[in-house]
Amino acid sequence: MTTPSAEERHQQKMQKHKEKVDAAVARAQEERGVLIVLTGNGKGKSSSGFGTLIRTLGHGYKAGLVQFIKGTWDCGEAKVLGKLEGLTHVVMGSGFTWETQSKAQDQKAFDDVWPKAKAMLADPDIRTVMLDELTYMLAYDLLSFEDLEQALVNRPAQQNVIITGRGAPTALRELADTVTDMKMEKHAFKAGVKAQAGIEW
Ligand code: ATP
Ligand code: MG
Repeated sequence: MTTPSAEERHQQKMQKHKEKVDAAVARAQEERGVLIVLTGNGKGKSSSGFGTLIRTLGHGYKAGLVQFIKGTWDCGEAKVLGKLEGLTHVVMGSGFTWETQSKAQDQKAFDDVWPKAKAMLADPDIRTVMLDELTYMLAYDLLSFEDLEQALVNRPAQQNVIITGRGAPTALRELADTVTDMKMEKHAFKAGVKAQAGIEW
C-alpha cells in the first residue's frame, strides 16, 4: 500500500471540509432579518457596523443610521455614508454624555432622536438599521430595555438591525441572532498614541 502524497492528503482534508460547509449551508434555509450586537471593549464595533451598511447600500437596498453619541464629532464615516444614495442618517444632538453632565439634557436629546429610530424600525423599505452606541442609552437609563425590545420584535421581518456599544446587557444579547464581543488585546491609545482622524473617527 502506498502512503498518500501531501497533495492527496490536502485534497482529502479539503473534501471533508467542503462536505461540512455544504451541509451547514444546506441547513441554513430560513430567510429573515437578523439582530446583530457588536459589543465588548476592543476596537472595531462601529467600523464593522459601517462596513455592513456599505454592503447593504451596495446591493441597492435602503439603510438607516442613528448615532447616539459622538454627535458633535466630525466622523469620517458619516461624511462618506451621507453621500451614498439610500442612507437616512440621524445624529443625536448632545455629544458625549460625560461632557454634557446633565441627565435632563441627555434625556431631551434622546427623546428627540428615538422616535426617528423607531420610525426606521417600522419601515419595511429600510433593509438594515444601525443604532450606533445604543447600549449607553440603556446603561444611562435614557431608554428602557422594554421599549427597545418592543421596537425590535415588531420590526419588519426582513429588516436587519445592528446595535453597537460596550457592555450590551444580557437581555439584549439573548434577543440577538448574532453577537460579537470584541476583545481588547492591545490598543495604541493605551501606549500613548494620540487618536487620529481616519482611524479613530
Ligand atoms: P471603531 O469606531 O474604531 O470601530 P469601536 O466602535 O469599537 O471603535 P468605541 O467604544 O465606540 O469603539 O470607541 C470609539 C473610539 O475609541 C475609537 O476611536 C476607538 O479607536 C477607540 N477605542 C476603541 N477601543 C478602545 C480601547 N480599548 N482603548 C482605547 N480606545 C479605544
Ligand atoms: Mg463605536
